[in-house]
Amino acid sequence: MSKEIKKIGVLTSGGDSPGMNAAIRSVVRTCSYHKIECVGIYRGYQGMIEGDFIEMGPRSVHNIINKGGTILKSARSKDFRTPEGRKKAYDELTKAGVDALVIIGGDGSFTGAEIFNREYGFPVMGIPGTIDNDIFGTSHTLGYDTALNTVVECIDKIRDTASSHNRLFFVEVMGRDAGHIALNAGIGAGAEEILIPEADLGLDRLVESLMKSKASGKSSSIVVIAEGDKIGKSVFELKDYFDLNLPEYDVRVSVLGHMQRGGSPSCFDRVLASRLGVKAVECLLAGKSNFMVGMLNDAVTLTPLLHAIKGHTEIDRELLRVSEIMSV
Ligand code: ATP
Repeated sequence: MSKEIKKIGVLTSGGDSPGMNAAIRSVVRTCSYHKIECVGIYRGYQGMIEGDFIEMGPRSVHNIINKGGTILKSARSKDFRTPEGRKKAYDELTKAGVDALVIIGGDGSFTGAEIFNREYGFPVMGIPGTIDNDIFGTSHTLGYDTALNTVVECIDKIRDTASSHNRLFFVEVMGRDAGHIALNAGIGAGAEEILIPEADLGLDRLVESLMKSKASGKSSSIVVIAEGDKIGKSVFELKDYFDLNLPEYDVRVSVLGHMQRGGSPSCFDRVLASRLGVKAVECLLAGKSNFMVGMLNDAVTLTPLLHAIKGHTEIDRELLRVSEIMSV
């Protein structure tokens, strides 16, 4: 029989995302509701190795549901990738009486958790926190919805200036391997074209499409480009190409960058974080381990960590068609 869980540790790891604080709050308060202790672990796995812990209660997480970033800080820990580092982490957890862990992070953080569970039989649960929405087993990761809203708000502003000056804007958004942000925010912001890693539009088709837009009477255009799109040129190289070959376009570039990771979480992310935090703690108390809690069809679900790590997320091809029709 598995050991009774009396104290749960919670940490945030990898890239931060809006909604992580709401998830910490949920984990802490669910522990309190079930009358067990909760310990916050600073700086992800690095803090775990160094024993950088803080006892947390319901009042230590007040006024954070609306805050971006993570009050527990995040880090990328090289030491945790080594057996020696993980041994130190295990010793620190044992010393502090921690019986189980909730890890809020991306697939790298889940990989670390899975290895740690395999080596020490330590109960772990993952909550997906990344703006990229590229984790298998959940329709939404924490921070994704907020990032979409941030991108749409920025592009709305860019559109004002683009239309005043008849300009063509290339807007780069985050997404090295996944085009979820570009595709959804692009449609939401009314972009003429959207370039994503999963589909190679090709430079010729982009040029052709923009020329068609111009001929149809559009005086300004917005092209949303995911960092990892397959056209083979950075946004700046694309601008150079247009300046040289299509001088009739007045091209400007905007790279949204890290502002997409910050900001107050949307209501959707706050509710998601609250639901996932409750589920993660209650599953640990029910003796479950090595799962990621996620959401599919508006129901909170469990996916084995290994599947969440290795599974592949697909973009919705229907959205590509919608985007094409909208840019007619
Ligand atoms: P993001 O998607 O924002 O990058 P992530 O969780 O994928 O978030 P990573 O930097 O890949 O971010 O991983 C976070 C941490 O998880 C690493 O710094 C490391 O401590 C731990 N980790 C990742 N991979 C492994 C591994 N193979 N073995 C042990 N620990 C790992």
